[in-house]
Amino acid sequence: MENKLLRKVFLAFMRIHILYHAKEEPFFGLWMIEELQSHGYSISAGTLYPILHKMEADKLLKTEEKTIKGKVRKYYSLTQKGQKVLNEAQQKTKELFNEIIE
Ligand SMILES: [Zn+2]
Repeated sequence: MENKLLRKVFLAFMRIHILYHAKEEPFFGLWMIEELQSHGYSISAGTLYPILHKMEADKLLKTEEKTIKGKVRKYYSLTQKGQKVLNEAQQKTKELFNEIIE
């Protein structure tokens, strides 16, 4: 079991990761779960979906339904507000990285 602080930090990392990918290309929930897992985060749909919904409610992400190969899915992409938040998070991440990673 992860410790409380790490869990908070990882949840924040995941949110930044989500913003980043929303900028790159619209994604759907299941894709993001697999993406985060490939980066070593174990996250379930039950954890991810509330995060996505909250980020949408906060106007960081917007959604669009698309049908691809007969599957209707909700695709998430970045809003202007999300872009601003991502820019700031990127600056701070870079700053932190330069300080703590040798
Ligand atoms: Zn990624």
